[in-house]
Amino acid sequence: MTSQTMVKTLLILGASGDLTGRLLLPGLARLVARGRAAGLTLVGAGSDPWTPERWLERLEESFADENSQADAYGKRELKRIRETTSYHQLDVTAGGQLAGLLAQLEGPVAVYFALPPRISQLACEALTPDQVPAGTRLVMEKPFGSGEESARHLNKTLGALVPEDHIHRVDHFLGKATVLNILGLRFANTFLEPVWNRQYIETVEIMFDEDLALEGRARYYDGAGALRDMIQSHLLEIMALMAIEPPASVDERDLRDAVATVLRASSIKAPYRKSTRRARYTAGSIDGRKVPDYAKEDGVDPARNTETLAEVQVDIDNWRWQGVPFILRSGKALGNKRKEAVVTFRPPPHLPKGFTGVDSPNQLSIGFGPDTLQFDVDVNGPGDILSLDRTTLKAELSASELLPYGEVLEGVLTGDPLLSVRADTAEDCWRILEPVLKSWAGGNVPLEEYPAGTAGPEDWPA
Ligand code: NDP
Repeated sequence: MTSQTMVKTLLILGASGDLTGRLLLPGLARLVARGRAAGLTLVGAGSDPWTPERWLERLEESFADENSQADAYGKRELKRIRETTSYHQLDVTAGGQLAGLLAQLEGPVAVYFALPPRISQLACEALTPDQVPAGTRLVMEKPFGSGEESARHLNKTLGALVPEDHIHRVDHFLGKATVLNILGLRFANTFLEPVWNRQYIETVEIMFDEDLALEGRARYYDGAGALRDMIQSHLLEIMALMAIEPPASVDERDLRDAVATVLRASSIKAPYRKSTRRARYTAGSIDGRKVPDYAKEDGVDPARNTETLAEVQVDIDNWRWQGVPFILRSGKALGNKRKEAVVTFRPPPHLPKGFTGVDSPNQLSIGFGPDTLQFDVDVNGPGDILSLDRTTLKAELSASELLPYGEVLEGVLTGDPLLSVRADTAEDCWRILEPVLKSWAGGNVPLEEYPAGTAGPEDWPA
């Protein structure tokens, strides 16, 4: 029930915020209760003058679910975290305040910037290298910068403070189990690799269609939109894992090198009217639940033209993938929840005469959260043996015992940057999307509409 925790203190900046309460603390609780954060001290900090009791209340609330399920050991560990924690009021952007707190904490410390992105940047700029003790890890949330240039600037600021392998750029979407499931499927089987290329694959689609609407998140979402929120980070990472060359190991260096190589070869080609589409939902209903028009939601500025559904075609210009479209799509308030990567194979070059019935291409689908595998194949159908029918082979893939943010935190605490987005990749993801963002801002691609609860605009194929 133990593991080495290299980090001694987890300092959460933005301790009163939404991310901390809803995701970070519950993720941490599972980790702690399973004995995977032994010896760790938790410290919270925020700009509010919270009393120690108010901070403890927050921990009680966020730990409650885990505490009710934990065994005696888990309960003791959760209690230990509550008994040793402290809360500090500070303005992280004011010179010296964060440095002063860092100097008091037992190292190595992981500093989690659960702050608005602009504040995180100012907080890092307020630190000097000599104020950051050796071994400190810096954990940055998404969005990482707002474009290639600002991501580069932020990388430079962070790189002056700690080495790259001590910087964790969080992408909570791809848990470790999902990453390894994709790699296991692709590289532990001989039957896939010979056909995993432009000769046999027609398209790869990566979809993240949500049935959730804005859910009160206008302040963040209306400034971001589907392209920045989902495709810029999460879907490009999945695409890269689907497309990488076989790595020699699943160590962070081999894997992140392979991911970076694929992304460097990737681009979205003009004209963007052909390679991209965007749309925004209007009033509708999902499972009997009324959803208001996005443009009329509190906190939304309709003139911003924020898209709630985005689709782009990415081309990977290398030997393996030349000419194979990778379609990345993500949207909100859609009728069908779909979180998957679908690989469509080319049709057989010749179907022996005599066969009739279905003759559709093979499709391999990898579903995310829960991770599943589906393979659609044509088989000789019941009744007439010459008539082809479709069947689906299904499997459930392994799930992690940790919550997504527990996996993120475990990587941070044990010093494993495998799940962290590397500096060059963070910049490259913006480089791929920036021309599209510019083109959309210039009004070159129409903003279409779809009623909430449907599959998107009528003329978009499902
Ligand atoms: P919130 O606005 O809910 O919380 C921000 C926190 O930052 C508050 O605790 C606030 O304290 C604190 N803060 C603001 N200014 C200062 C300052 N000068 N000094 C010290 N503390 C300060 O934001 P979220 O929790 O939603 O988001 C945090 C980060 O996580 C963002 O980068 C976001 O993009 C990212 N993220 C959020 C997700 C979510 O679901 N919430 C999901 C994925 C990523 P106070 O209230 O006292 O000002």
